[in-house]
Amino acid sequence: MNWLTEIARPEIRALKAYQHAVWEPGLIRLHANELPWRAAGDASIAGLNRYPEPHPHQLTAALAHFYGVGPEMLLAGRGSDELIDLLIRSYCRAGQDAVIICPPTFGMYGVAARIQGARVLEVPLQRDAGYRFDPVVLAERRDPGVKLVFLCSPNNPTGNRLDSEAILGLARALEGRALVVVDEAYVEFADGPSLTAAISDHPGMVVLRTLSKAHGLAGARCGALLGHAAVVALLRKVIQPYAVTQLTIEAVFRALEPAALEQSRGRAATLRAERARVAAALTGSHGVLKVWPSDANFLLVEFQDAAAILQRTHAAGLLVRDMRAAAGLARALRISIGSPEQNDWLLASVRGLQ
Ligand code: PMP
Repeated sequence: MNWLTEIARPEIRALKAYQHAVWEPGLIRLHANELPWRAAGDASIAGLNRYPEPHPHQLTAALAHFYGVGPEMLLAGRGSDELIDLLIRSYCRAGQDAVIICPPTFGMYGVAARIQGARVLEVPLQRDAGYRFDPVVLAERRDPGVKLVFLCSPNNPTGNRLDSEAILGLARALEGRALVVVDEAYVEFADGPSLTAAISDHPGMVVLRTLSKAHGLAGARCGALLGHAAVVALLRKVIQPYAVTQLTIEAVFRALEPAALEQSRGRAATLRAERARVAAALTGSHGVLKVWPSDANFLLVEFQDAAAILQRTHAAGLLVRDMRAAAGLARALRISIGSPEQNDWLLASVRGLQ
């Protein structure tokens, strides 16, 4: 699978990774210029006076086991945001290479690409087909600079899943040319399965997962990139040592305990039920033009007067996301599904009862 690294930036291929301090937790650490005492209030297990493991092997092994891949196929980072950035910095030469994004979609793909100086090519999702993506147009976009194609499924902000077979077909069609990056930040709220199991047969596909959504750890900042070992090894040279903090490592281990996983599955089920309830209630509400079907923990809703709804919800103490600046979404707001009480509040506010 040489092409997976051959299409990367030559400087990154040639890069020798930083040699970090040796990791031998059984020995007394007089090699990393740390303080030998804990800071006041430090209740962590390992002690925050110590650097965390530079490349967290135990965390990687635990996440890989959880997602059902080998540890050589997983890279943990500070949220999937960092992994998006790493992919672009590693694969795209400034001023030459390009990424394809399918708007309306998650904004960080385009932002990270522009920061790197990569070109951003847009192949919009097809609104009239329920925000489906067009794999044929994507595969035929013959620009030799394209190194990464970002697909978000379920997509933020539209909420729909993209067709799995079409994604896999695209990954096969782009073999040797570009990686297909499937961002599955919201997949735990969807009816269909993750594409993770298909990575081995589709080396040109990488999947992004996150602990931020269904696992309730947005504040901890931990995401995972799952992909072919060659891609993971390349990105591991680029990621900062100690990227995942000790507090985060400990929080993720707690989140992966069986009881926590059961709780997270139960909460995802509650959110799905609430999503259906809120969608049904909004669909019948005055001033609501369209509630897009969602496989995520939010709804994209178009209103006759989105500005008035924004004002009204804000006055009721609720923040919802204004999507009106996005192409084709001039009347749309994105509403996260909250607790049942919060959702009641939202519904009352949209209906002008509050
Ligand atoms: N991908 C998508 C589609 C998202 O919506 C978000 C967060 N809004 C992210 C990635 C970033 O997630 P993380 O917290 O893992 O950086």
